[in-house]
Amino acid sequence: MKVSIIIPCYNEEEVISLAYQRIYKVMERISYQYEIVLVNDGSKDNTYNILKEISSKNDTVKVINLSRNFGHQPAVTAGIELCSGDIAIIMDADMQDPPELIPDMIDVYLKEEANVVYAVRESRKGESFFKKVTAKLFYRFLNSVSEIKLPLDTGDFRLIDRSVIEEFKKLKEKKTYIRGLITWVGYKQVPFYYKRDQRLAGETKYPLSKMLKFASNGIMSFTKKPLEIAIGLGTLNIIVGIILSVYVFISHFSNSITTVPGWASLMIVVIFFSGIQLLSLGFIGIYLGRVFDEVKDRPDYIISEKINF
Ligand code: UDP
Ligand code: MG
Repeated sequence: MKVSIIIPCYNEEEVISLAYQRIYKVMERISYQYEIVLVNDGSKDNTYNILKEISSKNDTVKVINLSRNFGHQPAVTAGIELCSGDIAIIMDADMQDPPELIPDMIDVYLKEEANVVYAVRESRKGESFFKKVTAKLFYRFLNSVSEIKLPLDTGDFRLIDRSVIEEFKKLKEKKTYIRGLITWVGYKQVPFYYKRDQRLAGETKYPLSKMLKFASNGIMSFTKKPLEIAIGLGTLNIIVGIILSVYVFISHFSNSITTVPGWASLMIVVIFFSGIQLLSLGFIGIYLGRVFDEVKDRPDYIISEKINF
């Protein structure tokens, strides 16, 4: 059995050598054949040079260099599509997912005869209160609106086997929410509980803007609920409209209506319902934007160089 370790790297010069050493130690201890696939996602610092140096000393280290920064999910996708292992383990470069857990994960995979072992974060160290709370809420919200059951508190840290990799590769849609797509593929998926460490060094490569984009991608890929909500609000709008018309009609014939006194209520109705309309249009716009992206059919990433393949 051959094990592939897939790691996306974006501006990780401070941690990548240490990360490699820790993974190398673990992999040398276990008896399986292995490869470490490091994907450089258009880093602007010295990361790529460090990766080249590591790969020149050890040919089990393979490097994929993307032509620019495509983002975390496309980088992981590149690794999954090019890896050659019978099983692949996806992890972060910052060692928040401890590589020392790899043998245990493989044990679970073998014992349970699973196809996917997904790591569930029991706790997360060294992350801001804001990030922890928003992540907790997001995964619960996404699960409640998603058309398939998505495991809670689970990142991309997971083990997947060849059958899942092959099915994943066949998916033609943009791979913007990998953890969801792998869940969607099905087969036997089992959890693996762990405590998430803090970043070894450096800053998070997921600022709020990227987090929001990632969350929006997850929602738009796995549910049409917002569109249903828009339809619900629209229906409510019509019902209230009918009731109001009846009221206006009756008032008109009972001669109790005067133009000026109705102004405040009219403004409230206009503002409220134009808000609902804009919101609904926004939802539709986002989905339409995704359709636009899919129709253009540009690749998820472009590779400019491969080393040791
Ligand atoms: N990453 C990447 N491209 C990006 C952003 C992040 O390849 O545009 C990588 C990054 O190098 C790391 C992983 O994705 O290996 C997760 O990023 P990070 O640890 O900063 O995210 P956090 O753990 O803070 O959510
Ligand atoms: Mg991290």
